Amino acid sequence: MKRGLLLAAWAAASVLAVPAQAQVSADWVRAHETFLAGDELRGRGSATPDEAIAAAYVAAQFRGFGLQPAPGMDGYLQKAEIVRLKLKAPITLTANGAPVPGAVLLVGDGTGSEGVARLTPAKAMSKMAPAPVMLIVGDMPVMQLYRLARSFKTPRLLLIRESADTQAMIKGLHGEPRLPGGLRGEPREPAPSIVVLPAAAFDALAAQKDAKVSLTVPAEETVATTTNAIGWLPGSDPKAGVLLLSAHLDHLGVQGDGTVMHGANDDASGTTAVLELARTLAAKGKAKRGILFVAYGAEEIGGYGSTYFGAHPPVPLDQIVANVEVEMIGAQDPKLPAGTMMMTGYERSTLGETLKGHGALVTGDPYPEQNFFQRSDNYSLAKKGVVAHTISGWAVVPTYHSKDDTVANIDIAFMTRAIQSLVEPLHALANSDAKPEWKPGGKPE
Ligand SMILES: [Zn+2]
Repeated sequence: MKRGLLLAAWAAASVLAVPAQAQVSADWVRAHETFLAGDELRGRGSATPDEAIAAAYVAAQFRGFGLQPAPGMDGYLQKAEIVRLKLKAPITLTANGAPVPGAVLLVGDGTGSEGVARLTPAKAMSKMAPAPVMLIVGDMPVMQLYRLARSFKTPRLLLIRESADTQAMIKGLHGEPRLPGGLRGEPREPAPSIVVLPAAAFDALAAQKDAKVSLTVPAEETVATTTNAIGWLPGSDPKAGVLLLSAHLDHLGVQGDGTVMHGANDDASGTTAVLELARTLAAKGKAKRGILFVAYGAEEIGGYGSTYFGAHPPVPLDQIVANVEVEMIGAQDPKLPAGTMMMTGYERSTLGETLKGHGALVTGDPYPEQNFFQRSDNYSLAKKGVVAHTISGWAVVPTYHSKDDTVANIDIAFMTRAIQSLVEPLHALANSDAKPEWKPGGKPE
């Protein structure tokens, strides 16, 4: 073959190679999943060395795809310190000075947990005069009760009667109550304490009038480091704004009984999506807008990675024109049209319809009552005004937070198509002048 022909053949081959690189590949998807959700990473526990390895992996991939460190950063990793309280001795709960046997702390550090126990029907809690200590009657689920209590300044201590619900919670905690924590240097959010009492102890307390209750929680501070991985694809127009594509790389790690929680769906699938979007969008070359790719640490223990990122963004937040968080796209929801994903808070802004208009397989959230819009990392930025949503496959998948959330139980073909459907719409948005906007009443207050 002549040299000229060879060159022509080579040129044709390289023209074909570009679109192939911009294709999401089932092999890449499986490769990332297999590493991130493999036994070796031990479930990527929040703010653990396993999480740091996951972040280092994502960072190395970003570099390999040709992404740069984000503006102002000299590498691909952003670290943050989390200060958490840990129980150092058993709690004590007293009523009129006498210890109450069998009391189990679910959550809280006991701050302000002293006062006369006021008998309170759960449903009437919001209507009752404030009292620091409430003895709760009624069968409201603990999580709902906790959310309700958090929305008030009082009570500081809720005492509840043991039930199947509380037994399941206690089992899930493996003897480690949820004590509050926070990013170093930032004030800890005040949170109420919840204590479960054995039925007999609860009934005895309820029968006493005006029992004075006091809770002591002996705790010490522990410090752990969480890691965000950040990659940057610069745009050609610095004034055009920036897109942020994100997921969380941590999961539940190793449980007290040694069970590894692999988190293939939650959220190795989202991290894989961010990696494949980074690879394909980088292969498509420079767009008008820059794109930040971020895998957050420590989502599962309180969204610390995204909160830290929101407080220390490499570009000012008002330059971020949209954030798409990808969370749990490893399975598709039988409630949704085949092949589609849901976007939380879809109707709150124009982002969902813009992406859908360009072919993204997204639709509205069929579970508004679950408040998913508020329950993922997108919310840290949405609260600060950024148009930020989460895309999910099946938000109420049966393997959620179970040991069965493994690579064997995710749908690689669905994931591949779902991620592929986002490439062109995101590339179009990166090249557009149009800015996604909140609709009236859509912006969280
Ligand atoms: Zn999770």
